[in-house]
Amino acid sequence: MTILYKVHNGLYVNLTNRCPCACTFCERQTRDHVSEVNDAPLWLEHEPSVEEVIAEFEKTDVTPYEEIVFCGFGEPTERLDALLEIAKYLKAHYDKPIRINTNGLGDLIWNEDITPKFAGLIDTISISLNTPDAKRYQEIVRSKFGDGSFEAMLKFAKDAKRYVPKVVLSTVETTITREEEAKCQAICDELGVTYRIRPFH
Ligand code: SF4
Repeated sequence: MTILYKVHNGLYVNLTNRCPCACTFCERQTRDHVSEVNDAPLWLEHEPSVEEVIAEFEKTDVTPYEEIVFCGFGEPTERLDALLEIAKYLKAHYDKPIRINTNGLGDLIWNEDITPKFAGLIDTISISLNTPDAKRYQEIVRSKFGDGSFEAMLKFAKDAKRYVPKVVLSTVETTITREEEAKCQAICDELGVTYRIRPFH
């Protein structure tokens, strides 16, 4: 099973297949891998333990990679404790920036503000904004937490900014209008985070 995989210059960590969302565009619905540049199957036979993940890192030459990214085929904050423990190990052993790719619903998953736990461990948090509209957001991500999910995701981004050097909210190019992108930019400006329009694959 694939625990670590390469995407461009990043080394990605596949911790879980769990997710509170069922996004209409989720690649898990149609295939077993997420990247055009790496077809390693990302459905897990079991969730890897912290020890299993560290053993994978010990077998891997991390030198060529520019960053380490918690992403995978699911929502990484579903395994918050494991993620933090692995990040602690990585910070102690490698001089590489660490990013989390997330749907931003970790506070709802854990029913608390989880952002202080990232201090000193996580360098970048990249959150899928998808759209500037709360109602449309829920139609797209189909979060099990319902209508409050959009606001909770924005609060997560704002709170994370206090503990994580770079917080990015992203949409995918061509999936929303220019006017909507301008609204996304305004949301990010108000939150004090970076807005990124990701290329469409
Ligand atoms: S948040 Fe990510 S893993 Fe979860 S359903 Fe959406 S695209 Fe899939």
